[in-house]
This record gives sequence, C-alpha cells and structure tokens, in this order.
Amino acid sequence: MCLSWESRQSMEVLISAERIRERVDAMGAEIAADYVGRPLVVVGVLTGCLVFLADLIRRLNHPTQIALIQASSYRGTATTPGELIVKGEMLPDLHGRHLLILDDILDTGQTITKLVEYLSTRGAASVRTCVLLQKIGRQQVEFQADYVGFAIPDKFVVGYGLDFNDEFRHLPFIAVLPDSAS
Ligand code: 5GP
Ligand code: MG
Repeated sequence: MCLSWESRQSMEVLISAERIRERVDAMGAEIAADYVGRPLVVVGVLTGCLVFLADLIRRLNHPTQIALIQASSYRGTATTPGELIVKGEMLPDLHGRHLLILDDILDTGQTITKLVEYLSTRGAASVRTCVLLQKIGRQQVEFQADYVGFAIPDKFVVGYGLDFNDEFRHLPFIAVLPDSAS
C-alpha cells in the first residue's frame, strides 16, 4: 500500500529529533561509564538500527568496534510477525568480547531474545542489550533490555531507522504511522 502525500504530511510526531538527540547523548554517557576498562563491540541489528547506531557510537567516548547482524521477522505488513531469520555471516570473531546488541525497538521481545541466545553461543565475555524504543504492554517474552531510550505506547512507529515497507527510515524523528497505512 502507498501513503498519499497528505497522510505523510500529517504524521503525528511522537518523539522529536531534539528529544532523540538528548536521550542518545545521555545513553552514550551511561554506556561509556558502565564499560570503563572493557572495550565494546556494538552489534547492530539490521536494518532498523542504522540511524541509532550511527548517532550512538559518536556519543560513546570509548574504545568501540562495530559488528552487524541481520534478523527479520516482519515481512511487508506492519503487524504480522513471520518466522525469525538470523543471518550472522557478517560477524567477526566475538570470542572474549563484550557485546552490546543494538536494536531499534523491543516489541514482543522475540527478536532480541533469539539474538541474545544466538550471540551467547559465540564465546563472548558478556552480552547486553540496548534498544531505542520499547513498546508498553506488548512483550510476550519475559525480557528486560539493559538500556532503553524511550517507552512508547502500542502504536506502529516509523522514522529514525524504523520503516514501513522500507519507507520512512530517513525521517529524523519518530512518527506514528497513520492507521490507514498498516
Ligand atoms: P519483536 O521481535 O520484539 O516483536 O520485534 C522487534 C522488531 O519488530 C523490530 O526490530 C522491528 O523491526 C519490528 N517492529 C516492531 N514494532 C515496530 C514498529 O512499531 N515499527 C516498526 N517500523 N517496526 C517495528
Ligand atoms: Mg528490526
């Protein structure tokens, strides 16, 4: 489905670019303080993490390497999860490393739980998790991320890396997708 120009213009901004900037600054400082003396590997979950990852790593005044992993379960439609596919071919050797998994949003919790399981089998010294957004009232798996940017209501959001049918990732803010689009 295609959104009309009018509905794009009328998207409700849930979190402004300014608020994201302030929060990402604070998260960067908190993470760097927690990892003093321990170099970090930030493992970004493609593709939704990209904008968050690019901003966060520049706020981490800390020895940091980047790795990428692909995990996808949402195919096309906004709210119907499919089977989770994990592709870890791009990962470097993670033996003895401190991993911070970075995802855009924690919804049911399936993706991040599976990724923690997957990455824990690779000999890492530690595995922690960081999400920009966490949806309230949606978790199906008991899971608490170590770092959470914002708690948000149960609405389908786009922007700042998050997509609907691969659109809207470039928006500098987080917006609620109009009902008619999902
Ligand atoms: P979970 O496995 O926690 O249910 O879902 C996590 C993944 O679902 C996220 O990484 C994201 O790709 C997708 N997702 C969940 N909720 C939203 C949403 O509101 N907007 C967008 N764009 N993606 C979402
Ligand atoms: Mg994702």
